[in-house]
Amino acid sequence: MKKVIIAGTGLGALTTAMRLVSRGYQVEMVEKYHQPGGRLNQLRKDGFTFDLGPTFFSMTYEFEEFRKDVGLSRLPFTFRELDLLYAVNFRGSDKRYMIYRDPERLAREFEAVEPDFRKKMDRFLDGAARFFHDTEHLVLKRNYDSVMQYLLTLVRVPIRYSPKLLRSVWTEMERHFESREVKEIFSLVAFFLGATPFDTPSIYTILSYTELVHDGYHNVVGGMYKIVDGLCEELKKAGVAMHFNTEITGYRHENGKIVAMVDQNGKEWEADIFVVNADAAWFRHKILGRKKYSEKKMDQLKWTLAPFTMYLGLDTKLPHDVPLHNYFLGNNFREYSGKIFKNAIKLDQPYYYMNVVSKSDPESAPDGCESLFILCPVPDMRFKSDWSDRDKVADGILKDLSDRIGVNLGKHIVSKTVMTPVEWRDSFNLYKGSGLGLGHDLDQIGGFRPKNYDETFDNVFYVGASTVPGTGLPMAVIGSKLVTERITKAYGPIHA
Ligand SMILES: Cc1cc2nc3c(=O)[nH]c(=O)nc-3n(C[C@H](O)[C@H](O)[C@H](O)COP(=O)(O)OP(=O)(O)OC[C@H]3O[C@@H](n4cnc5c(N)ncnc54)[C@H](O)[C@@H]3O)c2cc1C
Repeated sequence: MKKVIIAGTGLGALTTAMRLVSRGYQVEMVEKYHQPGGRLNQLRKDGFTFDLGPTFFSMTYEFEEFRKDVGLSRLPFTFRELDLLYAVNFRGSDKRYMIYRDPERLAREFEAVEPDFRKKMDRFLDGAARFFHDTEHLVLKRNYDSVMQYLLTLVRVPIRYSPKLLRSVWTEMERHFESREVKEIFSLVAFFLGATPFDTPSIYTILSYTELVHDGYHNVVGGMYKIVDGLCEELKKAGVAMHFNTEITGYRHENGKIVAMVDQNGKEWEADIFVVNADAAWFRHKILGRKKYSEKKMDQLKWTLAPFTMYLGLDTKLPHDVPLHNYFLGNNFREYSGKIFKNAIKLDQPYYYMNVVSKSDPESAPDGCESLFILCPVPDMRFKSDWSDRDKVADGILKDLSDRIGVNLGKHIVSKTVMTPVEWRDSFNLYKGSGLGLGHDLDQIGGFRPKNYDETFDNVFYVGASTVPGTGLPMAVIGSKLVTERITKAYGPIHA
């Protein structure tokens, strides 16, 4: 039997562990943090429960594919489809644009600002749909052994899509819509990828198709952390041991293989195969000391936004008309997008997202109370390393939010936790606090992304946001499929 050590317990790791166990591998997991899940984590405090990072996701069928692959009769958690995807408010206006999946209701939201919205939206989504279905299996869900193999695959993408590679999400919006509101709202998908619509290739407008038409958005009954609870329960049944507060800080190697990973206490974790779920670029930089991943080169890569997050317990309920998922935008979209990542704009007029957790999971807050999660994209620590102004930034967001929802939050906060990029970096070894890992620019995806196998040690593999295919929960699940393919190709299914 082959023994595998997995460093990390993020979603990519948990799903890889399940896939490997189902193929007869013996798996053990070591995790730096005090509990499993990585960014898909949970905070319990003062009687409130919060999901630490992800709040919703698309492509649920990837979880179904995973379930079948590992032979589970049902997934150990329950999805809940969101009917109203999210609401968007612009500073200074009372109007809340409700983003429904239902095209009729969606069109009504925009009839005042965008004539012929329905027709234009259908045309826009048609284009995105065609691109999605023509490339999903051809390009996205594949392992690449070389850049050349990747480029040869791209050649098979129909030529009519070439302009999409050259345009940005914003340019694509401008081709289809007139109004500032529609363009800004439907280009928010770029922020979901941790970037801005001005520097994200228009191929990612497929995300508008996945959210509005294809599979929609879902969350999980009882909170997103139920995914982790459920998978860990299954792994426990399968005999997989997990060790927390255990950080891999070094390794021992012989004859082109790693024979043991070494933790912060000097303990050696021996195995035949190692899967790294720590950020794939960070691990090569920090633990393996690879030249290609020196600090200078790492800093030159494009990293996704850093999160500034707040977890608030309120001793009151918010007005009924405040929905579950909310985006609060300003009136200087282009300027803000251009400057926020480089710390060239003040955070006193912030753009942010708020999730009223207790609206969908009432048990996350005591009776009569509300639990809120706020996420504000901010510069990573290459551009802003000092977060001693965290209270000022938090107060600025809370003041703005209080004005916009008509509730003086300061009077009702009974629990408050703030995580700046510093805490995100230190909790999960995220490079300079970048929340979603490496960006998805054309030169950082597919064959150009850090590979899911090691360049030097042939028994070391990677899974997670900064290797293929990319960031987000469904991508982590696809990544586990890709890395399992690599491992079984090299070592075989131990028992079929
Ligand atoms: C604020 C925020 C909001 C998000 N919202 C969404 C959302 O709504 N929808 C969505 O789909 N995605 C969202 N994401 C992205 C999503 O969380 C990630 O893409 C996904 O969870 C990454 O999974 P992963 O497999 O890369 O593992 P990670 O979550 O990165 O976990 C890696 C694990 O490895 C551990 N580790 C690191 N170094 C070591 C070491 N040396 N030794 C041992 N262990 C180590 C870490 O502690 C961590 O537990 C969000 C992310 C953030 C930060």
